[in-house]
Parts: sequence; structure tokens; C-alpha cells
Amino acid sequence: MATPRILRMSSLFLRTLRDDPADAEVPSHRLLVRAGYIRRAAPGIYSYLPLGYRVLRKVENVIREEMDAIGAQEVHFPALLPREPYDATNRWTEYGENLFRVKDRKGGDYLLGPTHEEMFTLLVKDLYSSYKDLPLSLYQIQTKYRDEARPRAGLLRGREFVMKDSYSFDIDQAGLQASYDAHRAAYIRIFDRLGLSYVIVRAMSGAMGGSASEEFLASADVGEDTYVRCTTCDYAANVEAVRVPVPAPVPYDDAPAAHAEDTPDTPTIDTLVDFLNAKHPRDEGRAWTAADTLKNVIVMLVHPDGRREPLAIGLPGDRDVDEQRLGAQVEPAEVEAFTDKDFEKHPELAKGYLGPGVLGEDGASKIRFLLDPRVVEGTRWVTGADEPGRHVLDLVAGRDFGSDGTIEAAEVRPGDTCPECSADGRDGTLVAARGIEIGHIFQLGKKYAEALDLKVLDENGKLVTVTMGSYGVGPSRAVAAIAENTYDELGLAWPREVSPVDVHVVATGKDSAVFDAAAALADELSALGVEVLLDDRPKVSPGVKFKDAELIGVPTIVVVGKGLAEGVVEIKDRVSGVREEVPVAEAAERVAGVVRG
Ligand code: ATP
Ligand code: MG
Repeated sequence: MATPRILRMSSLFLRTLRDDPADAEVPSHRLLVRAGYIRRAAPGIYSYLPLGYRVLRKVENVIREEMDAIGAQEVHFPALLPREPYDATNRWTEYGENLFRVKDRKGGDYLLGPTHEEMFTLLVKDLYSSYKDLPLSLYQIQTKYRDEARPRAGLLRGREFVMKDSYSFDIDQAGLQASYDAHRAAYIRIFDRLGLSYVIVRAMSGAMGGSASEEFLASADVGEDTYVRCTTCDYAANVEAVRVPVPAPVPYDDAPAAHAEDTPDTPTIDTLVDFLNAKHPRDEGRAWTAADTLKNVIVMLVHPDGRREPLAIGLPGDRDVDEQRLGAQVEPAEVEAFTDKDFEKHPELAKGYLGPGVLGEDGASKIRFLLDPRVVEGTRWVTGADEPGRHVLDLVAGRDFGSDGTIEAAEVRPGDTCPECSADGRDGTLVAARGIEIGHIFQLGKKYAEALDLKVLDENGKLVTVTMGSYGVGPSRAVAAIAENTYDELGLAWPREVSPVDVHVVATGKDSAVFDAAAALADELSALGVEVLLDDRPKVSPGVKFKDAELIGVPTIVVVGKGLAEGVVEIKDRVSGVREEVPVAEAAERVAGVVRG
């Protein structure tokens, strides 16, 4: 067993801070900076100090061990990449503003890799040519660059960050499924070992292309992803990926003809519903609600090539457009507001009184019009009449208006019907929670292999296109997610597997005997293979040392102090706070036992 080096706080490159950094919005960021794990170098760009780098490497090693265990082979690609492969897949353009593009001295185009599908595909193409070479899984743990629109929360969303990315190469779908399943199982082991509480949810494949995909989300209120779970079945999905159950068409033979009515001063759904109940009460024994209205929202899509395209979305008036869901649907385009200036260019649009009449590629505005899947044939709506102060009643979908398609952009709400078990007659409903995406696994299929012409000879000597998977974990984001999952009011509280060291030995008092005993204990522990952080700072008060130990968050703290006179030291559990006094002579063995579990 190797003898770990003892980290001595008297010389360790570390300064803990009393105050929270001004720019820290979430606990993990605040605590990682205060406890001396990371320092900001620029927005979304961080340096790791000794303690932080140890945690990062421990996380990486857990990932490495589990990737190796499924037979994936570690490689390492450059971060500085040529443009051409990314042109071949169109990602040089599609990645939009998130891509860091750089020029060399000769004017050649390069990029800082945001993810490496292209490079792995080309490397395999370079070296392999037969089905006998497959299956193959390669991975790397490497620095990635993305010029995120909103870098935030320290390591959670950086512009430079670490990613473990792996790629699988198979001859057919059955092979891909097996590679995907192996990765999925490895991810479960990784996140279990990292001590994270997480859920696996269905996901959108986004800019990657491809089909089946799942995300691993660490449960955290500060997470940027919202997911839903069913209360009855095991359905769980990122809200981006939720498919609304499509209702059956409604018969409308006896529906009255649509009629436009004056509805003065009703530019919002609430004012409209109030007006309808006052002036046009329903005769079916219930009042009008927002769900009876069809709300038409216009946004501006900005495509990666800079083209701006208005998009209209029709949805039941009791729901808002969900930015995250819409964003995922229109990717790689970005969504901006449709401004008053934009309205000026479209005099046919009556703001606040928009109706399907002028929308759609066949309408006067020529603006693409997509409907929420709930707006099925035969449903009856109140909606704008395209004139200020007027609405149309009894407008029947499929009879009076159509669309250019459907879009899943309406918000998903707790209590909504589960799309999975509603299909077989059960009536589960959805509940929502927030999480941090820590891993994402995709079945890419042939998109990249086709674009870059990765083919191998099959058993019959025929050339076939390879099918691929891509699998990512963010070790740097995982460090913050673990902190987020485990911190308490005193500071960080690491799970053993990723703690920067195994034990924090604190020497308190002025007596040199205390320092000598603490140093001797540290040596003994080190000889037993235990990693030690030794607080041997002279002239620092016990109070400061205890506070620092709690802030730094090593799971086991040993105090060598007052008790030494009676021949005992104190072993304290950082999380439970439980203390135990043990004779000095037995301390090392006891601590080693605790550390090994
Ligand atoms: P997000 O939706 O949070 O932007 P993503 O879908 O872009 O994530 P992937 O492209 O699937 O993420 O990247 C794989 C993994 O890399 C993610 O699961 C996450 O753990 C990590 N990751 C992605 N972007 C960042 C970032 N900006 N900072 C830190 N880690 C990141
Ligand atoms: Mg992203």
C-alpha cells in the first residue's frame, strides 16, 4: 500500500474565507469558493486549488474505473480542433454562439471542442475497416469549451469544464442497444459511488441528433432542469421530452357556426374570460375558463446562420409557453421575443387579439403556425378575431382553422395526465421536481457515421455504415452537484469516496506535545494508507480550526487537544456530529477502521 502524502495546513496552498463571494448564487458555489477549493479566473472559468483538484480527480477516477470495467478504452483528444469535420456534420454552423471559434496565424479556422463525436468517428474510420473490429467503446476525460449564454453557479455551468465523453461503435442496432445498456449500468454504478441522489429520465437528443436518450439528473432545487415523474407508473422524463397525450377528435356536426363578437378591452386571457362570463354566459351549466380560449403566441427564432423567423404557437389559454420545452423543440435555433418593432412590420397582426385567421404559411402573415397537441379536430375555441377588441366564438379546429403542424411547447403542470399509463387506461398524474443534469446517454444511430462516411465490411463483404452511441458525464459539474446534495449549515460534507482526504486531524492548543502527538498520529495513519489533512497551524485558535474543518467537509475529524493530558483524542463524524473519545494508542487503527467503513 502506498503511503499517502500528508497535507499540512501550515503550508497548504489554501485560504478559507469568512464571507460569501459576491457572485455566488447557489450553496455549492459559495462553499467551494469559501472552503478554498476553487477560484474564479473569468466568468464561467475556474482554477482548482489543491483540495478542489483532489476531489475532481477522485470523481474522475470513479468514472475511469467504471468505464474501464465495461471494456471502454481511454484515449485523449486535443481540445483545439480543425474546422473541417465540424463542417461535414454542419455543427460548425449549428452550434451557433456556443462554439468557441479561433483562428491560427495563417487565418485557418479552428474550434475549442464542445464535444467530440466528429473526431472519434474519424479516428475509428482511420484505423478500422471490418465488423470483426466491433463492438468498440472509446472514452476520454477532457476539457470542453462552450460559450454558454448564461454561465452560472460556479462549476455547475462553466464555459470551460471537464467532460467524460465516450462513444460506442457497433455494426447493428442490437449491438448499439447492448453498448447503451452497458453504459447505462456503468453510469448507475458511478453515480451510486459518488453518493448522489439522482433520477434517470427520458430526454431529448438536442443538437446531437439521434433517437433514444436518457439523462441522469441529480436532485437539487438549484438545478436548471425540470423533470416530471408519474405517481402511478415508473415514467420519468425531462419536461423537454414530455409528450402530451393526444385526445381523441371531438364530433362537431352540431357545432354552431363561428361568430365574431365585440369584446372591448380584453387583451389578456383573464379580461377575456371575465367579459365572456358577463356578456356571453355559456348555456351548459358551467362558466368560461381560460382553458376554453386559444392563446396565440408569437416568438422570434434566430437560426444559427443568423436568419430570423417568426413562429406562432396556438395553445389552450390556461397554459403558458414553457421556454425550456420550446427551446428544446426548435434547437439549434434560439428563441427571442417578438417585439413591438416586429409587430410594426406585420400590420395584419392585431396584438392581443391574434387569431389563427392570419397565421400559418397560407395566412396573410405567412408566419408558421404550430398547435399544441391538445387542439385536436372538433375542439371549440374562443380566440382573437384579428381586430382590436374582437374575438371569435365557436371556432372549431379542423373546420374553421388549421395549422402547419403541432409543437410540444406548452408548460407541463403537476397533476397533468401521465402520457405513459394513460395509454393503457390507468390514470397516473405527473409531479414535478428540479435537477442538475450530470450525465446523458444517447443512441446516436448513423448520423455521424453517415456524415463522415464511417463504414466497415460486414460478414458478407458488404460495406455497412456503423451505428454509434455517445455518452457524457460532467466530472466538474458532478463535484458541484455532490456538494449541493450533501452540504449543511456548517459547510461542505463530502461522501468518503470523493473527499479530498480521508481524515482531518486538528491539533488544538499551545502545547508542543499536542502538535507532536497530532503529527505522530498523522504519520501512523499515513502508514496505514489513510490520507490525512493535518491542521498544524501554530497560533490559530481552536474555534477557527473547528470552523475550518466543518467548512472543508472531510467526513472524519480527529481532534488532538485537551484530552491528550488524559491520553485520549476525539473522533468526530462530520455529518452526524457524533463524537467518541479513544485512547491515543488505539486512535490510528480506529480511524483507519472508520475510514474503510
Ligand atoms: P445542459 O443541458 O445542462 O447544457 P447538455 O445537454 O448541453 O447540458 P451534454 O452535451 O449532454 O450536456 O454534455 C454531457 C455532460 O457534460 C452533461 O451531462 C453535464 O454533466 C456536462 N456539462 C455540459 N455542459 C456543461 C457546462 N457548461 N458546465 C459543466 N458541465 C457541463
Ligand atoms: Mg448545454
